[in-house]
Amino acid sequence: MTQQRRIIVANWKANLPPGEEVALAGEIATGLAAQLATTAPHVIEVLLAPSHVGLVAVTSLLRREHPAIGIGTAAQDASATEVGAHTGESPATHLVGIADAVIVGHSERRRERGESDAIVGAKLARIVAAGLRPILCLGDDLIDGGERERAAALSNQWIAALAGAAGLGVDRTALLAAGLVVAYEPVWAIGSGRPATPAIASAAAAAIRASVGSDLPILYGGSVDADGAAAFLASRHDDGGRIDGLLVGGASLSASRFLGIIVATRSAASGR
Ligand code: PEP
Repeated sequence: MTQQRRIIVANWKANLPPGEEVALAGEIATGLAAQLATTAPHVIEVLLAPSHVGLVAVTSLLRREHPAIGIGTAAQDASATEVGAHTGESPATHLVGIADAVIVGHSERRRERGESDAIVGAKLARIVAAGLRPILCLGDDLIDGGERERAAALSNQWIAALAGAAGLGVDRTALLAAGLVVAYEPVWAIGSGRPATPAIASAAAAAIRASVGSDLPILYGGSVDADGAAAFLASRHDDGGRIDGLLVGGASLSASRFLGIIVATRSAASGR
């Protein structure tokens, strides 16, 4: 059976100091090397997203000590501002050569930092202009909502972010050319221990693809662990509801839990 490419992202948020992030990256790389000894490589793209302060150290470790494993890194955010006199900011161009991708629009930043869709759109534009791949988080807070309501909320978020990016001259075509990935992350599922059902995630993925007008890669994120991972990845393939990968928060802070998710992904990808 043809193997399908999957993307698994570990979002470590601000949970660990840089030294512990480096140690965890090393454990994951070692575990992945053991998995790759018995399975085909390049079916799964693994990206680790450490804190900004740990990003360089983690990237350096992976390149220096584990170059054959092919684990990449993602930044958890980038600034809406350009290079210049902006104390404390991290312009996207500064991430070039360090991160392979940048997460943008995570619901924690929207909630805790007041990031509007317009700001998310501006960040998207900066990331694309820097030549980096954006992983755009979209999510609803409609735990009891229906499929239509959820689809409308996601579509509105996408349209507003797109307008924000357009304000800086980056359009839909440029976003797609940059390899845009969308992570469907229902706000009510993140860190709650109550993941969405695969059917909800799949319907959301179909709605996002319809709204974007492209068969782009879509991840699911929200309380994923090894035992639930495969069900998301096995979801509908016929009507745009395919889930291509996972954005993992809490469970990525343990090498064994995260490696378990990769094992489940590998099985789902090979149809076993
Ligand atoms: C996240 O914050 O992106 C996330 C998916 O977290 P968790 O897996 O802990 O729900």
